[in-house]
Amino acid sequence: MRFVVIGAGMAGILAAIRLREAGFDDVVVYEKAARPGGTWRENTYPGLSCDVPSHFYSYSFALNPDWSRRYSPGAEIQAYFTDVAQRFGVTERTRFGQEIVRCAFADGRWHLETKDGTKDVADVVIAATGVLHHPKMPDIEGLDTFAGAAFHSARWDHAVPIDGRRVGVVGTGSSAVQIVTAIAARVGELVLFQRTPQWIMPTHNPAYSEEEKAGFRAHPEAMEEIRRATSQQFCDGFANIIGDTESPILQAMHDMCVAHLESKVQDPALRERLRPSYRAACKRLVIADGFYEAIQRPNARLVTERIARVEPAGVRTTDGVLHALDVLVLATGFHVDWFVRPMQVTGWDGVRLDDAWAHGATAYMSLTAPGFPNFFMLNGPNGPVGNFSLIEVAELQVDYVLKLVDELRRGTCRALAPSGDAMARFDAERRAAAKKTIWSTGCRSWYLDETGLPTAWPFTFDRFRTEMGTPRLEDYERR
Ligand code: NAP
Repeated sequence: MRFVVIGAGMAGILAAIRLREAGFDDVVVYEKAARPGGTWRENTYPGLSCDVPSHFYSYSFALNPDWSRRYSPGAEIQAYFTDVAQRFGVTERTRFGQEIVRCAFADGRWHLETKDGTKDVADVVIAATGVLHHPKMPDIEGLDTFAGAAFHSARWDHAVPIDGRRVGVVGTGSSAVQIVTAIAARVGELVLFQRTPQWIMPTHNPAYSEEEKAGFRAHPEAMEEIRRATSQQFCDGFANIIGDTESPILQAMHDMCVAHLESKVQDPALRERLRPSYRAACKRLVIADGFYEAIQRPNARLVTERIARVEPAGVRTTDGVLHALDVLVLATGFHVDWFVRPMQVTGWDGVRLDDAWAHGATAYMSLTAPGFPNFFMLNGPNGPVGNFSLIEVAELQVDYVLKLVDELRRGTCRALAPSGDAMARFDAERRAAAKKTIWSTGCRSWYLDETGLPTAWPFTFDRFRTEMGTPRLEDYERR
């Protein structure tokens, strides 16, 4: 069988490694960029780090004794993925600079085409195209008239000097909070345009000493234990309770965020402007230290009036004030509902993914879609997202894919896709559960679809683990 993996980010590298381990030799990875790394290649903003502990945000089969900190910086994470791709033979089977634009299932196989017209065929396609991938530019009048430099947080322009200059940041998500914290002491003036305040969970980010790293090298089981314990902690402390809005654990998280705000922000007026009106963890929780200190610096200013427009000299808010700026950073998030799109995908009987997803992207068990046989989406629609390690999610998903692929290997069928009935049942149950999650308690966030319903896996993480471990083969249509 021939496999095509689309994307050489965290999930694509993983899929290629695990397919080879499972004995499949004919595996090719297509990557539109010149290097592997996905989101860690694309995001290079100052302060970039992962708020999931590094020994948890690592592949289970490639633990890393050299992580510098509990939460390591982005450049180190990018180096880790580059290294794993190299060591496990993924780089050599990756076609860099080749973007797949079309996938069509015909005569029992997938026919793929890249942007430059190169064609390929595969029996199985694994789309590892990422979630937080397509930058969302804000729809602000006059943005293109700005005389200074303006760029999205995921497209940081390192040629633009920021030291000593007047820098505006739009947004208060995880990216903006990391950026503001990192640049506040460097810039001349920092203006943060906040549309909605965020709850911020304090954290502690100690460096690992050389002795600790040597200990990890000598005793890898110590890293395994950290990974296991952290996974357990994230499951019990969050991923298993998102559907129980009355959980005392969620209340405790809320209380910690309140205490963080109240202990760190001195000025009562500023404190109230920074205080969200919704529950902690309704939006994806920001986990960070130093933000409140940064925004209270004498050179920093929080602007809560709405942005009216951007002008050549800066940002004008609806109160008529012009905030003069040299640089404008748009930390305004991503088109999270695109998934494999804009790739054109056509399944059996001519069904088009764009049509199937006309009312929102959905996937049976977070991986597959009716009409699209042997097509698996890692970190696809309806999967677990949020404050958790997406590596653990992808590893479980790859286990599931391998179990289905085994059906093909054993010759029970040539192609399989979830039945329409199975999809409808799953979706009805998912929708009902989504309404009861913490994400539905009254805030706007990227977790919500256009009707306001959370799209992420709304069940416990334990259930996700079980579902991934034991695919319901009877839910699949075989041809
Ligand atoms: P985000 O969470 O979607 O935040 C976007 C921000 O931009 C929000 O504050 C939003 O305000 C604001 N915004 C959007 N359009 C606007 C407009 N037209 N005018 C004013 N404000 C506007 O994006 P993000 O911060 O890039 O984070 C996305 C996700 O990436 C995170 O939730 C997380 O999953 C991941 N991430 C993870 C880490 C990590 O450490 N693991 C770090 C960075 C990012 P509203 O709230 O009012 O909509």
